Amino acid sequence: MPITANDPKRKTWLDTVPNTDFPIQNIPFGVFLTRDDIITIGTRIGDYAIDLGALHQLGYFKGIELTDDIFLQDTLNDFISDGRKTWRLVRNRIAEIFDKENPKLRDNKEHRKHILFTLDEVEMQLPVQVGDYTDFYSSKEHATNVGTMFRGKDNALMPNWLHIPVGYHGRSSSIIPSGINARRPWGQTMPDGATEPVFGPSKLVDFELEMAFITTDANALGEPIPVNEAEEYIFGLVLFNDWSARDIQKWEYVPLGPFLAKNFASSISPWIVTLDALQPFKVESPKPEMEQLPYLQYKGKKSYDIHLEVYIAPEKGTETKVSTSNFKYMYWNMSQQLAHHTINGCNVNSGDMMGSGTISGPTPDSYGSMLELTWRGEKPIKLSDGSERKFINDNDTVILKGFCKNENVRIGFGECRTKLLPAIKQ
Ligand code: CA
Repeated sequence: MPITANDPKRKTWLDTVPNTDFPIQNIPFGVFLTRDDIITIGTRIGDYAIDLGALHQLGYFKGIELTDDIFLQDTLNDFISDGRKTWRLVRNRIAEIFDKENPKLRDNKEHRKHILFTLDEVEMQLPVQVGDYTDFYSSKEHATNVGTMFRGKDNALMPNWLHIPVGYHGRSSSIIPSGINARRPWGQTMPDGATEPVFGPSKLVDFELEMAFITTDANALGEPIPVNEAEEYIFGLVLFNDWSARDIQKWEYVPLGPFLAKNFASSISPWIVTLDALQPFKVESPKPEMEQLPYLQYKGKKSYDIHLEVYIAPEKGTETKVSTSNFKYMYWNMSQQLAHHTINGCNVNSGDMMGSGTISGPTPDSYGSMLELTWRGEKPIKLSDGSERKFINDNDTVILKGFCKNENVRIGFGECRTKLLPAIKQ
């Protein structure tokens, strides 16, 4: 089925600024609370939030097989569960409804009142109920940098790394939408030179620049997903800040990997940009440096050219860009991650979230964490207000941004913005 929603020539009757992350070619999906305290599923064009529940009730999705309440829900899980064909039909229809030449809604003032909201009239919610969250570790540059710091240059990459898209099962209860604050965690650490562990607020709270993909119901228990079919089961992507406490991590991560260092908060951008909307930005993945097992070998382009940026804003002061990276640097792509995740028969459900792992590029200004950018605090970063950062300070706000751009269109993710509050008093 063609993705007519991606037509780069299409213009909308809504007023949008030229460089918006959300032109009519994007049509992401999210969940928001309206000014009347109603939760609904919606999309966004320019700076308008569009109530899909209201559109459906008013008959604008006629001819598409949808249950009456599909958009009158507080999560996208059921809609995602309907599968790729439905997502395509709905995106294509939304593009038609808001096409400049289509008068149906454009000239219906009464309907527009029920359907359109400005962004300050809505409050974004978590778009899905995340049943399971998995985090990968798929950037070779990141794995090499962290491995060098934790184990030395000679043991930087573990022997399995070039063979396996390494991952672990994370915690979904602490996934929060952009705009919700995180809090500095308490925990056990073993400071350098100490002989006994100490307990206190983490001193080394860090961001991790990641993206996460959201799946639909993909496979029955016991059945793997072939690598070349994996994209059929990926609904879309969000920006993902996987907050990490490096001092807690260093002490706890052997032998089972990170635990409390990672599960106190992970923030996501609220609009899920569909894989369909990202089609024009497909690119080759990095060439494998070692032959991969057949179940991980794929055909065609499976990576996406998504520019990524990280900013830090102190409590009083403007934001400073501290990193510029790109999703295409990932050594293991999403298809390989999903194929690997299910090769043992592990089943994947609608609304599951898979973090990419920190996305570091080849140059020091493209590293995806403070751990790497400041090389464990040895090279502090200067912010525009003159202050320095080794890690994230109390009341700093970390902002992730992401967008794709070619000569025709810009498809963006908006922001993932989280303020770090001081540790609670104990
Ligand atoms: Ca992570």
